[in-house]
Amino acid sequence: MAETARKRTPLHTKILLSLVAGGVLGITAQFVLPGGPKNEDLVWFSENIANNVGSIFLTMIFMIVVPLLFSALTLGIAEIGDATKVGRIGFRALVMTIVLSVIAVLLGIAAVNAVKPGVGLPEEKRQALLAAIDKGAAEKKGAAEKPAEADPPTLGILPRNPLLEATRALTGGLLPFMFFSLVFGIALSAIDPEKALPLKQFLEGLFAVSLKVIDFAMLLAPIGVFFLVFRTGAILGFDLVTTLGKYVLIVLAALAFHQFVVYSLVIKFLAKRNPMEFFRQMKTVMLTAFATSSSNATLPTALKAAEEDLGLPRKISTFVLTVGATGNQNGTALFEGITILFLAQFVGIDLDLSQQFQVMLLAIVAGIGTAGVPGGSWPMIAGVIQRFNIPVETIGIVLGIDRILDMSRTVLNVTGDMTIAACVAKWEGEPTETPEEAMA
Ligand code: ASP
Repeated sequence: MAETARKRTPLHTKILLSLVAGGVLGITAQFVLPGGPKNEDLVWFSENIANNVGSIFLTMIFMIVVPLLFSALTLGIAEIGDATKVGRIGFRALVMTIVLSVIAVLLGIAAVNAVKPGVGLPEEKRQALLAAIDKGAAEKKGAAEKPAEADPPTLGILPRNPLLEATRALTGGLLPFMFFSLVFGIALSAIDPEKALPLKQFLEGLFAVSLKVIDFAMLLAPIGVFFLVFRTGAILGFDLVTTLGKYVLIVLAALAFHQFVVYSLVIKFLAKRNPMEFFRQMKTVMLTAFATSSSNATLPTALKAAEEDLGLPRKISTFVLTVGATGNQNGTALFEGITILFLAQFVGIDLDLSQQFQVMLLAIVAGIGTAGVPGGSWPMIAGVIQRFNIPVETIGIVLGIDRILDMSRTVLNVTGDMTIAACVAKWEGEPTETPEEAMA
């Protein structure tokens, strides 16, 4: 085993190395070449090579957004829909999921507004970056805006024609398309289970295939991230490092606050347990989430710990944790809220309060639709930022440092599931003694 580990560098390490290499080379080129960022050869290379190679990788992700979103969201909602059928337990878990997600996203949005990590780039550098990004985006926009005028969704959200919204999902149709997926998921959970089964199996297949395409895209990530970050480094110089540094810190600080303050309060006052003890009892689960960056991969460990270490009744924990692994993603919702606003700040787009409110709703829904796998957030973020005219190419800049953020937000995702399970167990009046306590 040690041998295979030595032979194969994990993908996330390769991506991180590409980020560093791209950043260092880009910044160095900016300093060393005559004319700095305006050096003709550097500009040519950035525009023609770095831009295009970076775009191939991003396009692989974009092309799967619609099938992935439709299958993930419909199945996620159908599961939660089934949950409400299970009655009170499902309903209570659902309410807690929504409340915790709203708090998470509000926290993220407040943090990013207070610190403004993306603001402060010198204006001429921002313009240069936008000009470089816009080269390709301008043509795309021209083509994309025309259909957006035809047959607009009612109230901006109810699609008349979901297929039309699907075709323009990356240029503003995402929200109505998500709405359609939500309604479809609710309806799917409301029909005769026998009739629903084939469709659910089809959607599960579609979901699995979509994830595979993401895997393929991620194989290109080290190259894509290198070129995207090179181009940005060549334009921004050291501002790239300081801006990204602020972004990472603000994400980690907000996640830590939600984990240790919000969850602690909920565990203490709603689940009526000692938060420190609770975290200690689920430390293996947190470590597994951190190591795997995947809620789904952590599920078996979470189920075991819920029963053996936290003493949660099986009928509650199995149900809440299984649904939560896909349906409840607090850390992800918080992260998506911060990232969308950060990228808007980064490119100098001012989102007003109503747009920020939309970001909040989208982040909550995207949290439900996000697959519990490493990097599951990115297709959602790609879809959402287009709605606010933020160039999707900006994703390449933050993707390189995503792994550590992914590991951290996944810890919150599973802690959230455990917290909800503990609260529901308490409200159901179930005995929640841990084996240790029972012996004492
Ligand atoms: N990695 C996360 C999870 O599995 C999803 C994401 O935010 O990318 O919970």
